[in-house]
Amino acid sequence: MNWISNYVRPKINSLFSRREVPENLWTKCPECGTMLFHRELADNLNVCTHCDHHMAITPRDRFKAMFDGGVFLEVKVPEPLADPLHFRDQKKYPDRMKAAQKSTGEKDAMLVAEGEVMRTPIVAIAQDFAFMGGSMGMYVGNAIIAAAERAVKLKRPLVLFSAAGGARMQEGILSLMQMPRSTVAVQMLKEAGLPYIVVLTHPTTGGVTASYAMLGDVQIAEPNALICFAGPRVIEQTIREKLPEGFQRAEYLLDHGMLDRVTHRKNLREELVTIIRMLTRQSPAVHGDLPATAEAPKA
Ligand SMILES: [Zn+2]
Repeated sequence: MNWISNYVRPKINSLFSRREVPENLWTKCPECGTMLFHRELADNLNVCTHCDHHMAITPRDRFKAMFDGGVFLEVKVPEPLADPLHFRDQKKYPDRMKAAQKSTGEKDAMLVAEGEVMRTPIVAIAQDFAFMGGSMGMYVGNAIIAAAERAVKLKRPLVLFSAAGGARMQEGILSLMQMPRSTVAVQMLKEAGLPYIVVLTHPTTGGVTASYAMLGDVQIAEPNALICFAGPRVIEQTIREKLPEGFQRAEYLLDHGMLDRVTHRKNLREELVTIIRMLTRQSPAVHGDLPATAEAPKA
C-alpha cells in the first residue's frame, strides 16, 4: 500500500489539482435530493429539472434571463446612512453588511433595472434573499422609490420580484418606515396610471408582505412560494392547531383568492409581457415577428 499512498496518489492528485475545478459544480435539490449539474440548472433558471422545485435566483441572473438579449440598464439607488443606530448583535451591522456584499457582489438586497422584455419597455426591481435574508432596510425603500420614479418618468410599468424575511432588524424603526414609504411609491404609479405587477417568490414574509408586495394590480407567485406575514410555525404555536396542507403556499393562496396567478418561472417572461401589453393597450407580442413597441400608456 505504501507506494500507492506515497507515490501514486500524490501523482494523481497533482495531475487533477492543476486544473481549476469550481467548487459548486453540482447542486443538490433541497426538495427531491437530485444532484444537478450547475450549467444545466442555470439553463433551467434554477428550477430543478427533476421535480420543478423553484430555487432562489439572484436578481442579476433573473434580469439577464428576462430582458431581451440579457441587456438592461441599472437604475441608480441613493445610498442611505450607514448604520444610523450603531447596531450590534453577535456582529456589528457594518461587518454584516460587508460580509453580505462580499458574498453576493451586490450593494444591498435590491436591484433596479430598466430595459425591454420582448420589445416591451419596463422598469424592474428584484429583491435578493441571499443578501441578509432580503431584509427591507432603508436601501430597499430607496430602491423602490427610485424604481417608481423612473417608471413614472419613462411612463413604463413596474414589475417587482419580492423575496424577503421581512424588515431589517439592524435598522429598527427606520426599517419599518419603509412600509409607508414604499406604499407611497406604489401610489405614485397608480396616480400616473401605470401598471404595477408583483411577482412573489419564495419566501416573501413579514413587513414586505404587509406593504409593497401585496399592492400589485396583478399578483403573481412562483410555484410553492411561501407567502405570509407570520410564518406557519409561529401561527401553529399561537393557535395550537395543526394547519392545513400547503398552508400559506402560493397554490393555497391562489385557491383562497389572495393571488391572481401561480406561474412557472420559465413561463413568467411571456406572461408578464402579455399582461403588461394588455394593461397598457399595446398590440400583443407576436413570436418571430415582434411588433415595434407601441405608444406609452396614457396617464
Ligand atoms: Zn428537485
